[in-house]
Amino acid sequence: MNSEKYKQVLQEIKPFHAQLIAVSKTKPVEDILEVYNEGQRLFGENKVQEMVSKHEALPKDIQWHLIGHLQTNKVKLIAPFVTLIHSVDSLKLLQEINKQAEKNNCIIDCLLQIFIADEETKFGLSEDELYALLSSAEFSVLKNIRICGLMGMATNTDDENKIAAEFSHLKKIFEEVKQKHFRTESFFKELSMGMSSDYKIALQHGATFIRIGSMIFGER
Ligand SMILES: *Cc1c(COP(=O)(O)O)cnc(C)c1O
Repeated sequence: MNSEKYKQVLQEIKPFHAQLIAVSKTKPVEDILEVYNEGQRLFGENKVQEMVSKHEALPKDIQWHLIGHLQTNKVKLIAPFVTLIHSVDSLKLLQEINKQAEKNNCIIDCLLQIFIADEETKFGLSEDELYALLSSAEFSVLKNIRICGLMGMATNTDDENKIAAEFSHLKKIFEEVKQKHFRTESFFKELSMGMSSDYKIALQHGATFIRIGSMIFGER
């Protein structure tokens, strides 16, 4: 790991009261333990199987965040221990998370992933889909999930103005959704945006979680 960079990011996010998720995908448990021993407890993975085996191998006070695309048939594997699912992008997935949360007698915290980039490869709901989901009768009966906020990924570009515009757009959607659907819910407060290349811009636009991998762990 890069201990200097890790400490630097922690200093940088302090004034923003944001939280750092150390994205450990593809990295071995030894590398994760190094970061753990620096005091880090929030880790992010993008694959279910990998997250399950790392959860089994590592200390149980780690909070695991799923940040990658989630298939409905794999929800049951992470339901018993996942802290927050950042990548919810359909009602069908939300219904399955609710079902597995019921089975585990718990409430699973989720973020809705919003499509803000202009890249076909990125997942996420459009604004229209987001409002349709939140207004649906099917959504209103889900009692074992809690929508804690939104997540998004900016376009992979060097154009900082473009990235800033995309993050600022997501922040605007966040405020609107809060007004319209979660005005009295104190848990709707998270905005997950920003990675190694663009976290500084994300912090400027209201990120509460930044997801940093390569800057801490080195290139994958
Ligand atoms: C890999 C990944 C990150 C971290 O990316 P880095 O560039 O390594 O910081 C953040 N968010 C998601 C969704 C990812 O898949």
